[in-house]
Amino acid sequence: MSAKAALNLVPATSLSSDLLIVGGGVLGLWAAKYALDAGLKVTLIDKKRCGSGGSRGLLGALAPHLPNAMNDKKRFQLHALDELPGLVAQLEEQSGLIAHYGQTGRLMPIRVPGFQKRVDRCIEESRVSWDLGVRSYTFEQVEIGSYEGWVNPELAPMGLAFDSLSARIVPRSFMQVLYAFVMDRIEIIEGCELISFDQKKGRARMRDGRAILADKVVLAAGYETYDLLKPLARADLGHGVKGHSSLFKLDGVADMPSLYDNGVYVVPHGDGTVAVGNSSQNEWSDEHAVSEGHCLPYIIRAIELCPALQKAKFLSHWAGVRPRSHAKDPIVGALDDRGGVHVLTGGFKISFGIAHRLARALIERITGAPNRVSLPPSYEVAYHLAEAEKDNRGDKKI
Ligand SMILES: Cc1cc2nc3c(=O)[nH]c(=O)nc-3n(C[C@H](O)[C@H](O)[C@H](O)COP(=O)(O)OP(=O)(O)OC[C@H]3O[C@@H](n4cnc5c(N)ncnc54)[C@H](O)[C@@H]3O)c2cc1C
Repeated sequence: MSAKAALNLVPATSLSSDLLIVGGGVLGLWAAKYALDAGLKVTLIDKKRCGSGGSRGLLGALAPHLPNAMNDKKRFQLHALDELPGLVAQLEEQSGLIAHYGQTGRLMPIRVPGFQKRVDRCIEESRVSWDLGVRSYTFEQVEIGSYEGWVNPELAPMGLAFDSLSARIVPRSFMQVLYAFVMDRIEIIEGCELISFDQKKGRARMRDGRAILADKVVLAAGYETYDLLKPLARADLGHGVKGHSSLFKLDGVADMPSLYDNGVYVVPHGDGTVAVGNSSQNEWSDEHAVSEGHCLPYIIRAIELCPALQKAKFLSHWAGVRPRSHAKDPIVGALDDRGGVHVLTGGFKISFGIAHRLARALIERITGAPNRVSLPPSYEVAYHLAEAEKDNRGDKKI
C-alpha cells in the first residue's frame, strides 16, 4: 500500500481531528470505517505502513468457537461471523477490489471418544444456538467418503465434524479492500509512531517530535498497544505471540472446506492458494524473521492431514506477531472516566472474524450511539485491569 501522505509533507502540529487512530491493522482500519460512518473527522497513523503488522498474515481462517455451552463470547463471535459476508460485499462494491471471502465451512477429524462426545453435544445444541432466525448454521458429522483425497482417512477413524459457519478470507486482499475504502476519506500518515498521549491537552506526541491534536485516541497498535498502555494504565495487560504460516499454490480446491486438527490449519483460498499454519512463540527478537524450523513441523502435519497438498507448489512463508491479552480476551473501551484514551486490541488468533464488531462497539460508545452492540464482560477494560491487579497480588486462580 502506498502512503497517502508522507509524514515529512504534513506539518503535524496543524493536524487536528475528532479521533486519532493509532495502528492501521485490521482493527484500526475497521475503527476508521465506523468512525467515518459516524461522521467523525479521523486521522490514522501507523509507525510503518498500514497492513504491515500481524494483519499481513496468510492464513485467513474465520473459525467459530464450537456451538455447545454457548456464552457471551461465543454469541458475540457468532453474530460477528454472521454479519461479515454482507459487510465485506459492501466494501468490495465500494472499493472495486475483492477479498476472496467464502463461507466454505470447516472439517475436523474425529479420532478419540472424548471429541466424539463433544461433537454429539455440538450437533444437538447447534440446532438452537446457531439458529439466528433469518439464517442458521449447521454442525454435523459427515462421512470421510465425500472428502477422499482432501482428508487422510487414517486420521479420521470415527469420521469428520463439519460446520457451515466457518469461512475464509485472503488477509492481504481484505486489508487492501479496507484501506481503499478509507484512504480518500480520512487523513492517513504512515511512518509515524505515537509515543505518548496527553489526555488533558488532547495532544499526541510522535517519536520524531511532532504532535497531533485530537479529542480522543484509539490505541489499535496490535501487540504494541500493551506497551503504550503500560504508563497510562499502570498495568501490563498483554504481550505479543509470534507465529508462522505458509502459502502454497493448488488449483481446483478453492471451494473445499478448511481443515483443522490439533492446532494445524489448512485453508484453501478463492485466489487459488492454500494457506497452512501455524506456530506459536512467546520469545522472539525479530517479529517478521522467518525460521523454516518453525514452519516444517506444521507443514509435515498438514500434508499428512491433507494428501492433496503433496501436489501443491510452495510459494512463501510469513511470520508475524499476534496481540494476546494476559486475560486472554480482546480489550475494548475507554481506559478510564476521562474518555480520552480508548483501547482496541487483543484479537489474538480470531481477529479477522470479529474485528468489525469490536470496532463498531467501540465507535458506538465513543459517539454515544443508541442501541449499541454489547460486548462480553471479559472484553471490558475494567475486567482486564482487575485481572492484572489479581496477578500483581498473586491471588489469581491457576
Ligand atoms: C501466524 C499467524 C496466523 C494468524 N492466523 C489468523 C487467522 O487465521 N484468522 C484470524 O482471524 N487471525 C489470525 N491471526 C491473528 C491476526 O492476524 C491478528 O490478531 C490481527 O492481525 C491483529 O490485528 P491488529 O489490528 O490488532 O494489529 P496489527 O495488524 O499488528 O496492526 C497494528 C499496527 O499498529 C502499528 N503500530 C504499532 N505501534 C505503533 C505506534 N506506537 N504508533 C503508530 N503505529 C503503531 C503497526 O505498525 C501495525 O501496522 C494470525 C496471526 C499470526 C501471527
